[in-house]
Amino acid sequence: MINPTIISHLDETEKGWEGCLSVPGIRGQVPRYREIEVEYGDRHGNIHRQVFTDFVARIVQHEADHLNGIVFVDRVETTRDLVTEQEYQKLISVD
Ligand SMILES: [Zn+2]
Repeated sequence: MINPTIISHLDETEKGWEGCLSVPGIRGQVPRYREIEVEYGDRHGNIHRQVFTDFVARIVQHEADHLNGIVFVDRVETTRDLVTEQEYQKLISVD
């Protein structure tokens, strides 16, 4: 997926846990669009349009943000939505 551009999205967002190798030791609840339509190129120069939903839509939004210098901690609504990796591991083991 080369130069992805989110060309449309549903207004509905959902918070979900994210982490990132660029921000080690921290996890956060990040709001993302549940459904996005993305235009991107492939390695052969072909242009594609594809709809992604839920977890895959979250990944594409996270990675597309990187291309624009944005990391997930920039997207959390409040610092209360940030936890350490240790706290995160406790939280998901209870669920
Ligand atoms: Zn990342």
